[in-house]
Amino acid sequence: MDIAGMARKLGLSDIKLVVRKAEELRRLSNIQFDSSVMGVGEICKAVICLEIAASRLQLLFDRQSAIKLSGMSEKSYTRSFNVMQNGLGVKNKLDVRELGIQFGCVRLIPFVLKGLSLFKERFLAALPVSRRASADFSRPVFTAVAFYLCAKRHKLKIDKLKLIELCGTSESEFASVATSMKDLCFDTFGITKEKKDPAVIKGHRELLDALPGKRRRKDTGDVSDDSSIDDEDGLEIPSYKRHKHFKKAAYDDWKSSVIASNNKTKADNYRLHSKSEEDVKNLVTKGTVVKGVLLQQMIQAVVAIILFTVTADDSVVTTDMKPSFTILARQFVIAMLVLDTWQYFMHRYMHHNKFLYRHIHSQHHRLVVPYAFGALYNHPIEGLLLDTIGGALSFLLSGMSPRVSIFFFSFATIKTVDDHCGLWLPGNLFHIFFRNNTAYHDVHHQLYGSKFNFSQPFFNIWDIVLGTYMPYSLEKRVGGGFEARPTQDYKAE
Ligand SMILES: [Zn+2]
Ligand SMILES: [Zn+2]
Repeated sequence: MDIAGMARKLGLSDIKLVVRKAEELRRLSNIQFDSSVMGVGEICKAVICLEIAASRLQLLFDRQSAIKLSGMSEKSYTRSFNVMQNGLGVKNKLDVRELGIQFGCVRLIPFVLKGLSLFKERFLAALPVSRRASADFSRPVFTAVAFYLCAKRHKLKIDKLKLIELCGTSESEFASVATSMKDLCFDTFGITKEKKDPAVIKGHRELLDALPGKRRRKDTGDVSDDSSIDDEDGLEIPSYKRHKHFKKAAYDDWKSSVIASNNKTKADNYRLHSKSEEDVKNLVTKGTVVKGVLLQQMIQAVVAIILFTVTADDSVVTTDMKPSFTILARQFVIAMLVLDTWQYFMHRYMHHNKFLYRHIHSQHHRLVVPYAFGALYNHPIEGLLLDTIGGALSFLLSGMSPRVSIFFFSFATIKTVDDHCGLWLPGNLFHIFFRNNTAYHDVHHQLYGSKFNFSQPFFNIWDIVLGTYMPYSLEKRVGGGFEARPTQDYKAE
């Protein structure tokens, strides 16, 4: 089947590039393994290659239509997707923090990280020196198993089957990694009574030794052949038990959501992200943000004082000039348009130019879950380029008086703070009058939104005109509050 035709059917943008990439992936998969052995048909393979290519190019991808096109059920598509990803060596990096959020046990994260590093250390110590350099721990199954064992030790029930599906491995591989980890890191994962000598434990090396091809073929074999159930909680769950298992998992989900809802404050019902997401996703502490913002304000104040001292003209006294309402309104609108235009292009360029992004604008994006007092958390040069120069231009071009400009800049600052407040409170006038608002800017702060919704702080005109607008819908979030979710199924999990 023709990949280009499929790409067109799925409405992918940048067709040429994505098709080329997908074809490359398909060729690679043909060389590396026989996907039909794993039950992945040709059409499905092509669709999955397109999805991997699109996600690498950060393009919007409609997974639901893709599943329809592949003619498979959602479950078997996901399974095939994981198999292909694994086979192509496109590791779906399993982030411990993401896992913590998804399974609602963020407090496990430090234990998992500690356990993983301990496991690596001890595993490497048991390997001959010549083999150490080639050991590869980046496969998602290691993270998933560490996460599972930590949860078990802390008496938290998590859905193991979902975890296995997420890391794109098989139950048997999961089980053998689990055995290895439990044996080596008894103190962190706490299953066996005493530490075993790593050299004695058979099977460890096979985890790293097996060629990817071999390993996978074995994995897709019928697991029911493997009748060894190696511990009491059944790492290999027979299918008739799965139903029960899922029921239990659903009950646990419900229970933890009830417990969580008891600890909620009123504001939590209006948050765009949960409190734990704020702690986990943000790459900077609140203390650093406060310091950064104060420094920024100080620099801006000094620049403004110098500017006004240099440009002040005492001969013009404007105290008795009272501009009419229409003049004031016109000045405000012009200033808003000028500031928006300046900020849109500067902001977009800061994302486009890798150097500027890495060294300057990325500071603001350390807040993936923004909060009010982080609104002006910027690199000082960004403050100067976007805010000071943008402000000066809107002041000069609108022709407003310094007195009026006090109101205008206060208004712009309050609007920016509201855009970052992370709350969708009822009756917020900014949300009623501006389509560019808290949810709109929140999309830009997410990883998937960094190429969209550049417009700030007032209108979204430039995003719409230049095609960088990401449509989203505000939906109720599980556990209370709202979520700004892209309407195209971009964030497919
Ligand atoms: Zn940005
Ligand atoms: Zn922002």
